[in-house]
Amino acid sequence: MANFVGSIDLGSVLCKHCGNLIDTVDTEKVMIYYSDCLQCNKEGSKKVEEKQYEY
Ligand SMILES: [Zn+2]
Repeated sequence: MANFVGSIDLGSVLCKHCGNLIDTVDTEKVMIYYSDCLQCNKEGSKKVEEKQYEY
């Protein structure tokens, strides 16, 4: 009997800001991780910079 389980990435890494799929990870069961995608990371650091300029 062939066993195909283990070749599929079940874990998904989603951006907590825009919901974009950032990456997939190999996990034993369905898991969803939340992180920041590059675009939201960029916008976040830009906002901080702007805030620093305001002060
Ligand atoms: Zn994002």
